[in-house]
Amino acid sequence: MDGWKDQLRNSIRTMDDLKKRVNLPQEEEKRLAEAIEIFPMQITPYYFNLINWDDPDDPIRKEVIPVADELSVAGSLDPSLESTITRLRGVQHKYGPTALFLVSDMCSSYCRFCFRRRLKVEGKTDQIIESPEHLKNALEYVKEHKEIDNVLLSGGDPLMLSNGWLDTILNGLRDIEHVRMIRIGTRTPVYLPQRIIADEEFRSIISNHNREDRRIYFVVHFNHVRELTEEAITGLRMLGEIGVILRNQTVLLRGVNDNPETIRELFNKLSYVGVTPYYLFQCRPIKGGKYFQVPLAEGYRIFEDAKKGMSGLAKTARYIMSHTTGKIATVGIEDGRFYFKYHQAKNPEDVGRFFSLPLKEDAYWFDDLM
Ligand code: SF4
Repeated sequence: MDGWKDQLRNSIRTMDDLKKRVNLPQEEEKRLAEAIEIFPMQITPYYFNLINWDDPDDPIRKEVIPVADELSVAGSLDPSLESTITRLRGVQHKYGPTALFLVSDMCSSYCRFCFRRRLKVEGKTDQIIESPEHLKNALEYVKEHKEIDNVLLSGGDPLMLSNGWLDTILNGLRDIEHVRMIRIGTRTPVYLPQRIIADEEFRSIISNHNREDRRIYFVVHFNHVRELTEEAITGLRMLGEIGVILRNQTVLLRGVNDNPETIRELFNKLSYVGVTPYYLFQCRPIKGGKYFQVPLAEGYRIFEDAKKGMSGLAKTARYIMSHTTGKIATVGIEDGRFYFKYHQAKNPEDVGRFFSLPLKEDAYWFDDLM
């Protein structure tokens, strides 16, 4: 099954789809069905086949198969308060030079820790740019804000759009002189590399919009080294061949990659295949996904330990919290204090601000330290 559309058509979405492939204890089946009712399950056959069903703690399984903990009501559906930085339908503008367009509420598979699960849980399709009129308004906003030099296409996953619509969006952005860089945030190289490998038209659209002085970046999202399969690496190579610049962001996830060896192996291999690790994100306190969180202090130590044995390129990444006030980088722990620096900030005055707070070993998010 090489065709990417076949992969989507044959995705595992229901309990029946799952039961055809694996035996689950009845109690687990019941809780799983409840979790799917709240936030859908969708797993491409390609990714499903990466799961080792003999291992109940398999990290790949944890990323896409729901568990009972999802039914917990702790956390928020908008932990980064994106509603407060949404300027018009589908347009977020938090940091001066960067605008974010939400262009899709669809993904090739759904991550159980998704911090935008509100798009599915609450059916917030009214937050997406999905018509020519929405796009026109979004582009007008960018035209009026000359300080914006880069636009990030996000969602959902922009690679779930039709080639034609993606081309239209990219054309619109390319017509704005001050937009020098376009970033596409996507997990499709992880879940569905066939979308890149088998679709020449898609690659040629990206290539056409990739200019020498106005580049296209793909910010991909690998969380475990087993996701870097031969197909995934081929997809990444093909993107590289059309001049796309590749960066990776990983989310630190309990039970998936919460140890130095796994992070080290992943970041090293990413750097070997031409993808520079960019951020290691602290998992947000998302309702239904809080069980994935690792305490901040533990996360910091995991990452510091992982860096031993990484090349300079592999450890370019920062361990960051994407907080409502900005991107807060962890800098150090010493004498009972946790040191941080604003890498990006909603308030421009805060960019680069260095500060410390008393260390709390059981803090999972910035607000827990206050
Ligand atoms: S691919 Fe991204 S947007 Fe889609 S479910 Fe995963 S984290 Fe959420």
